[in-house]
Amino acid sequence: MQLSRFPRLRLAHLPTPLEPLHRISASLGGPNLWIKRDDCTGLATGGNKTRKLEFLMADALERGADCVITLGATQSNHARQTAAFAAKLDLRCHLLIRDLGAEHDDHYRHNGNVLLDELHGATITLAHADADMDAELAQLIERLVDDGMTPYVIPGGGSNEIGALGYVDAAAELLSQANDRALPIDHVVHATGSAGTQAGLVVGLEAMNAGISPLGISVSAGKDEQEEKVLDLCRRTAEFMGLDGNLVAKDKVVVDSNYIGDGYGLPTEQMVEAVTMMARLEGVLLDPVYTGKAFAGLIDLIREGHFKAGENVVFLHTGGSAGLFAYPGVFGRGY
Ligand SMILES: *Cc1c(COP(=O)(O)O)cnc(C)c1O
Repeated sequence: MQLSRFPRLRLAHLPTPLEPLHRISASLGGPNLWIKRDDCTGLATGGNKTRKLEFLMADALERGADCVITLGATQSNHARQTAAFAAKLDLRCHLLIRDLGAEHDDHYRHNGNVLLDELHGATITLAHADADMDAELAQLIERLVDDGMTPYVIPGGGSNEIGALGYVDAAAELLSQANDRALPIDHVVHATGSAGTQAGLVVGLEAMNAGISPLGISVSAGKDEQEEKVLDLCRRTAEFMGLDGNLVAKDKVVVDSNYIGDGYGLPTEQMVEAVTMMARLEGVLLDPVYTGKAFAGLIDLIREGHFKAGENVVFLHTGGSAGLFAYPGVFGRGY
């Protein structure tokens, strides 16, 4: 497994810190909790998409692109990190945004990630929440090509076999940190959406025979659907790396979809508790859409006795805190 064979732009701040969560561990009284700070990858408030974009943007440049297109929901952290990366590379950036604004207020529509997308100079095209995104994308590509541009399309969340390499690399980074401090990791828990983070992690951990199956807490899809999506991307990623497509057995892909609440991006009480607990006990910012729900899941599983005392559980913080500013009313005060 040699990732240096793949084109990559080194822009992320790596390795990200692996830190103990002493106060939360003590307060919950279960396993030893650790946090892997992929919210600190460096670009425009950080996040997990930056690792994927190191490989995707290198591919875009190799293919002679002068602009990138990507897709996401209104408060997409992926869109924001893509906009920042494109700015750094002097590429035009077009964001095709599924407009979820109708379910939310003005902060959601204009603040948080949207403010940062615009600050980084991205061009936003809004599509209706129910729009056929493939058709919208085809139209946008046609328009840009007619204008003489050479666009490169990055899939939603950067989740294809190229982007997933970022999390194959993260698996190696995490194990190396654990080995350096003689820390046996029993579990890794993180939010899963477009599947690239979990697929890359699982492929990397299996290729190294680490004996860890990450638990993905879903933020939108049901368990079976999400596990299928992750497993499919595991196959494609392994094959792309020249490994056996069946490297990852089905039972190594585990998703829990009990913490979504009413749907993607819609707050839950448990999410508010998780975000508040992390802020007040550890001084770390989670986000309302992904890490808040994932950490809520982890808290609940600890309370339910899912982990043994003395086990080491790593929460992978995938970023997203810019999204807090899209939900001010949810965290108490409003204005
Ligand atoms: C995109 C995202 C995720 C989910 O990662 P996927 O690779 O899309 O599954 C988790 N957390 C945050 C903050 C994200 O922006």
